[in-house]
Amino acid sequence: MRGYLVAGNWKMNGSTAANDALVAGIIANAPPSESVELLVCPPFPYLSAVAEKLAGSRVALGSQNVSQFQSGAYTGETAASMLRDVGCKYVIVGHSERRAMMGETSEIVAAKFQAVLDTGLVPILCVGETLADREAGETEAVIDEQLGAVLNLSGVDSFVNAVIAYEPVWAIGTGMTASPEQAQDVHRHIRAALEARSESVAEGVKILYGGSVKGDNAAGLFSKPDIDGGLIGGASLKSADFLAIAEAAATLG
Ligand code: PEP
Repeated sequence: MRGYLVAGNWKMNGSTAANDALVAGIIANAPPSESVELLVCPPFPYLSAVAEKLAGSRVALGSQNVSQFQSGAYTGETAASMLRDVGCKYVIVGHSERRAMMGETSEIVAAKFQAVLDTGLVPILCVGETLADREAGETEAVIDEQLGAVLNLSGVDSFVNAVIAYEPVWAIGTGMTASPEQAQDVHRHIRAALEARSESVAEGVKILYGGSVKGDNAAGLFSKPDIDGGLIGGASLKSADFLAIAEAAATLG
């Protein structure tokens, strides 16, 4: 029983006041279900303050990015050990916005994934194809390349302590959700790629779907056998929207 993870990626949004209200709303009404874990990933400057607000709650803290380096002369970077120090449990790596806009290659993403593991935190590895990739019939090849870079560097056993998020780029922030069947097909492909190396690792790893998940489409997605929750962007910025997605998971879990 893998359980569900519903993770909010706040991206570059928020302020002290807005974050306080959002976190208070989530904590006050989070479904009590044991089979659903909730996670929020604020921007770096707010991690400590949000950690304080989350203390004693069942909502976990994560970051949206990390350096692949451990420490030293890397101006503007944030080490995984610092994220652990301020209370993070999870770290998103390889979000498509970072791959596309910040030049993160699959090799850099793999190095970040390993840096997170080395620190005892849990990486959430994002993979996903663009619309052009999909239309060219390249979806699985793109996923294989992104996943392959991590498997080559860290090995299949690293996924015992990791989460994967399938996020089709064409569905992120567009309102164009993948259908539950489209998502399930790719999730199955990802799990099968791991299964070929280790059945037990494949069986245990959570694979989240991300891309315009909302309260009204979450249940359809989460009811698929290989979809273990969601990575939520826009709908994670209002507690009622985020909690509606959490409720969908709790109802299924
Ligand atoms: C995301 O940024 O990871 C995401 C899935 O965004 P949205 O839910 O807004 O599509």
